[in-house]
Amino acid sequence: MALKTAQEYIESLRTLKTRVYMFGEKIDNWVDHPMIRPSINCVAMTYALAQDPQYADLMTVKSSLTGNTINRFTHLHQSTEDLVNKVKMQRLLGQKTASCFQRCVGMDSFNAVFSTTFEIDEAHGTHYHENFKKFLTFVQDNDLTVDGAMTDPKGDRSKAPHDQKDPDMFVHVVERREDGIVVCGAKCHQTGSINSHWHIFMPTISMGEADKDWAVSFACPTDAEGMYMIYGRQSCDTRKMEEGASIDVGNAKFGGQEALVVLDHVFIPNEYIFLNGEYEFAGMMVERFAGYHRQSYGGCKVGVGDVVIGATALAAEYNGVEKASAVKDKLIEMLHLNETLYCCGIACSSQGFQTKAGNYQIDLLLANVCKQNVTRFPYEIVRLAEDVAGGLMVTMPSQKDFTSDTVVGRNGETIGDICNKFFAAKDGVSTEDRQRIMRFLENMCLGAAAVGYRTESMHGAGSPQAQRIMIARQGDIQGKKQLAKDIAGIQ
Ligand code: SF4
Ligand code: FE
Repeated sequence: MALKTAQEYIESLRTLKTRVYMFGEKIDNWVDHPMIRPSINCVAMTYALAQDPQYADLMTVKSSLTGNTINRFTHLHQSTEDLVNKVKMQRLLGQKTASCFQRCVGMDSFNAVFSTTFEIDEAHGTHYHENFKKFLTFVQDNDLTVDGAMTDPKGDRSKAPHDQKDPDMFVHVVERREDGIVVCGAKCHQTGSINSHWHIFMPTISMGEADKDWAVSFACPTDAEGMYMIYGRQSCDTRKMEEGASIDVGNAKFGGQEALVVLDHVFIPNEYIFLNGEYEFAGMMVERFAGYHRQSYGGCKVGVGDVVIGATALAAEYNGVEKASAVKDKLIEMLHLNETLYCCGIACSSQGFQTKAGNYQIDLLLANVCKQNVTRFPYEIVRLAEDVAGGLMVTMPSQKDFTSDTVVGRNGETIGDICNKFFAAKDGVSTEDRQRIMRFLENMCLGAAAVGYRTESMHGAGSPQAQRIMIARQGDIQGKKQLAKDIAGIQ
């Protein structure tokens, strides 16, 4: 089957019986819901750009499984060049949406599960790798969006899965049948869950023998019986529900999406199981997925950063301060920080290597350094954006005030007249354009989009401490001690 168009993707979501809840109620037409639709538009962009001849080299690739042309978001990386192109594609998507476009979690789980299942089969004589290849061929052939679900609620963080008071704190097998398994549990702050066709579930931590029932990975359709989602709030999200909302929303077209995904006795047939009790491989799957996703941030957040920097430069221009040397210097600092993140994304990709299964993996140390920097630099970038833009980005009256014809002035001036008078700045710049760029920055720095640009930079693909643990493991302090000893003449 050919690549889907953006419209075909959106229409395909309507055919699913996905169960979505928000504000305590079931949402039936979630595809057109004003709070959800921007996140669907975002994923749709991964389809739209693949149809654009200008981006064909980046967005599409030949499948290693079938030889057919597929969307890169469903690809198994075959070289370091593929890994670099993945990061470039993510930067492009960040530039076009200024949001989290969600489809990467699936791509990263494909590559992690592909290589891990190969090694599980090698050790245990299981058939998970064949299961997975069959599943991925189906995904590629139908150009599906698949969510990669990893983060369990985890309950008491000091306790292992089997030690939790409530066993559902980690996704686990509650029944083993001849033809499959039944699973219970949940995944938290799950990016791109509602608008995916399928999900791949993976464990979230390394596990011991007592955690066997929790060491489980599988694919399941998003509208499987027993599965549902409760939509996550974002700051200022109800602005999207306001009548005629466009300016105050900041980014009316695109957005990210997170949800609590619940599995309440969901049956998984054998052919969709990729790990089932081989607990010693849980850690490998986690580490590989996290590694790929930490690489991803060296692309997506850089693309979003490009838009933030552009908006900041526009705000300076509209305020009439673009020639001030202090402003120029702040923009240079923002560029420097943003490109440093890109360097990290490209570096961990170009230093990648082939796995036993044949696909390519990133350099784990460099991917973790990449993500560690992402937990910091976007914060500094938004700090500088707020500095340059000025307080107006958060104190400006509403879009409705700027168009209001309610008379307030002694000479018959309306609220709209007054707002347009006092918020005018540089000659030749409309107050509406100024409003638009200020509200856009507000949205990116502390509104709904801050989930994608700030908090996700902090906690997505693992919180900062998770990267520090990996950096400690991969950083080879012993080897470095030896280097010093050799030169200093210490035996
Ligand atoms: Fe993709 Fe970035 Fe969103 Fe992760 S945070 S899904 S890498 S856009
Ligand atoms: Fe993320």
